[in-house]
Amino acid sequence: MSHFNYHQSTEILFGKGRINELGQLALKYGSKVLLVTTKATVPALEKQYAKVKAILSGAGIEVFHYDGVIPNPTIETITAGAEMAKSFEVEVIIGLGGGSSMDSAKAISVEATHPGTCWDYLFYKSPQPDQTKLLPVIAVSTTSGTGSQVTQVAVITNTRERDKSALYNNVLYPQVCIIDPELMLSVPEFITATTGFDVLCHAFESTINPGTGAYVDLLAWEAITLVAAYLPKVLSDLNNIEAREKMAWADTLAGLCIANAGVTLPHGMGMAIGGMYPHVAHGEALAIVYPVFAQFTYGAAVLQFSKIARILNPELNAVTDEEAAEQSTAEITKFLKSIKLNKCLSDVGVPESEIEKLADQCMVLPDYEGNPRVATRDEMLELVKSCY
Ligand code: NAD
Repeated sequence: MSHFNYHQSTEILFGKGRINELGQLALKYGSKVLLVTTKATVPALEKQYAKVKAILSGAGIEVFHYDGVIPNPTIETITAGAEMAKSFEVEVIIGLGGGSSMDSAKAISVEATHPGTCWDYLFYKSPQPDQTKLLPVIAVSTTSGTGSQVTQVAVITNTRERDKSALYNNVLYPQVCIIDPELMLSVPEFITATTGFDVLCHAFESTINPGTGAYVDLLAWEAITLVAAYLPKVLSDLNNIEAREKMAWADTLAGLCIANAGVTLPHGMGMAIGGMYPHVAHGEALAIVYPVFAQFTYGAAVLQFSKIARILNPELNAVTDEEAAEQSTAEITKFLKSIKLNKCLSDVGVPESEIEKLADQCMVLPDYEGNPRVATRDEMLELVKSCY
């Protein structure tokens, strides 16, 4: 067996109804909390935020609510949250929501306790956040999902530079997370599909990342199997709590995978798309690039591509690995059609005139270098054109 490392410092509370434990949990860290969320754009979220605030107040906690998070959070939205954390001298930060809210909580913890903005602490910059200064973070996930509740990553967009990048440091793992599938019942169809597909991407890319190993492999294939079986079920009945629960578990497994192995080419491309066109949801960007990525890569990772093809279509158990891997593009496309995410860049308003610029941006993050087949600049341009 190959050598591998595995690290995870976030305490995980998983299961229906676990949100009721949030008050006692937060009290271990302090009695003044900044609750970080998006705006309550639908009545279900209004109800969810009110319930969480009642649970916290019931435990004697003073709650300050920052509801300025936006999908694909920006430096400006983090700064506004950090200002609030500082002015009310909060002791704990709770990120309640999808990846955007949980990532914002982590970035706010950094910016509220360090000079400059969160952008000064991106993964490649120095100095890195100082653990002794950070405010503790509790992550409560309401999508399945980005896995952010169990990762050391906070993804932020620099609107001025049209750049989406990340803080990445082991000190950013949330202290504790709650994964309560009942909080996910209100996620609408499109967000269920995009976030659910993100789970499959995290798990699959972790199996082809050079940092993979026996532990990650075990979690990743279980996550992919769960997504293949349960994402279509959730989409056919958004109130199916058993299917929501399986997706929440798959999301958590996939988050543990990216925290220990990492993503590859599709995420690098997806981040570039999200940075330049923030109206494109993260999972939607991934859906656009996946068939093109599979076609480009399958020959360099036959075992993994044959495995995913066979999970999506068990009839491929009857053919050779090479033949199954070759079918992976068609099987992924079929799966994307079944979850109504079979799209291309022109469908989401990306101007053809920016294809060259987008190809350059796809090579800014190092994710593409971890792909089993590493694209040259010319190949990247062809990949982006194929996504168009
Ligand atoms: P999101 O957090 O942007 O949320 C999308 C929308 O769903 C928002 O409008 C939100 O209000 C709504 N929503 C969330 N939960 C809901 C619920 N229970 N009911 C109704 N509406 C709900 O979506 P996301 O895909 O979870 O997060 C995307 C962000 O996470 C991106 O910035 C992405 O780059 C980042 N990300 C982070 C990591 C990580 O490890 N930190 C990994 C992957 C992606």
